[in-house]
Amino acid sequence: MKGKTCCNAMRYHSSSHCPVHSSPFECPDWLILHDEATGNYGIIIHDGGQSYIKIDYCPWCGHKLGSEKRLFRK
Ligand SMILES: [Zn+2]
Ligand SMILES: [Zn+2]
Repeated sequence: MKGKTCCNAMRYHSSSHCPVHSSPFECPDWLILHDEATGNYGIIIHDGGQSYIKIDYCPWCGHKLGSEKRLFRK
């Protein structure tokens, strides 16, 4: 499975593909944006625009986000 998430809560909130809203910015229930281009995660700001606050750690389990490929380098 591609794009493995750290915990169930993060997986749920970052990939809840709403049947009504095609964009996460339009959906009031969509909390976490996963920017696949950069690998960043962010909390979506529902102000009508397309802004989000980048987060470095999972708010639920505290796992470090965004640089998983380098995490396991020895
Ligand atoms: Zn997590
Ligand atoms: Zn929605």
